[in-house]
Amino acid sequence: MLKKGSKLNSILTGSCPRCHQESMYVDQNPYHITKVYTMHENCSHCGLHYQIEPSFFYGAMYVSYGLTVAIGVAAFIISKVFIGLSLGQSFIAIIIALVVLMPVTARLARNIYINMFVHYEKNAAKK
Ligand SMILES: [Zn+2]
Repeated sequence: MLKKGSKLNSILTGSCPRCHQESMYVDQNPYHITKVYTMHENCSHCGLHYQIEPSFFYGAMYVSYGLTVAIGVAAFIISKVFIGLSLGQSFIAIIIALVVLMPVTARLARNIYINMFVHYEKNAAKK
């Protein structure tokens, strides 16, 4: 499922969506907050320019919105139904989950967004 060539591989690892050879990000760890959005200009293997057009990653906000709602719903169900917290405590649990997962959400949104436009090419790295 996570082998090279699947979009899920590129989305979860943050690797170049065209060749899957290297990470798009300068710092692999999203919890280094100051570098969460710092990306390489181009892929050094296939030469893909990550910022396809000016302000390309603004569109990732829409993906981020969807992810945030999904995380919020999941946090609510886990805290209310499975753990049995009160409504107020569940609300706090949602906020904590969203804040803690914010860097991961931000990167996942970018990875998903660029993978909607760039597809894997098996021989891209050899060009
Ligand atoms: Zn590449």
